[in-house]
Amino acid sequence: MNNPVVLVIEDDVPVRNLIVTTLKTHEYRFLTAKDGAEAIMMASSHNPDVVFLDLGLPDMDGIDVIRQIRSWSNMPIIVISARSEDTDKIEALDAGADDYLTKPFSVEELLARLRVTLRRLSLINSDSAGDRSVYTNGKLTIDYAAGVACLDGEELKLTSMEYKLLCLLAKNTGKVLTHTYITQSIWGRNWDSDIASLRVFMTTLRKKIEPDRDSPKYIQTHVGIGYRMLRVD
Ligand code: CA
Repeated sequence: MNNPVVLVIEDDVPVRNLIVTTLKTHEYRFLTAKDGAEAIMMASSHNPDVVFLDLGLPDMDGIDVIRQIRSWSNMPIIVISARSEDTDKIEALDAGADDYLTKPFSVEELLARLRVTLRRLSLINSDSAGDRSVYTNGKLTIDYAAGVACLDGEELKLTSMEYKLLCLLAKNTGKVLTHTYITQSIWGRNWDSDIASLRVFMTTLRKKIEPDRDSPKYIQTHVGIGYRMLRVD
């Protein structure tokens, strides 16, 4: 694979320069856009591997940039937001963003998010080629056809709800899933009581799959936002 191309959408010049310098130093290729209109044009004409998107753009809301790109492409979008409110992140994730960074962020954090996203991308590409029905992540395996999940070769005794939840997270490994997304996928609706139930199911699922509950390896909590299945080596 050639060095990945990252489209950086950011109107704030110092932040854009920081991102671009970081990408250059780590031998990523990059394109830049300073507003939403230019961003959409660049995304459609250059088809980048990953997009970094600032939500606060001068000409349009970043959420609308996500919606427009999602109308024709699944390219990974990592949102960069100065707004610390969780509602913006949730809205961006529900509109189809893959991940988010909150300003101010460190260069290491930026690179880590980029690596997670690229790994997810290469996995999706290899999955669609082989159309595999067994999921493997660290010591965790799920045989979708048989409906069986194992940890370290031992079959897990999961309730049907825990199994559904595990499959949903596994199929979106590397991606942050919001509470709303999860409850709608599982129950087809989103009530406050569903989010409370989700927490309970998540706790029981974790007891079964996390060897060390104090430092979970597989499922990451995003407080007030949702959960993500991490790729474990
Ligand atoms: Ca901005």
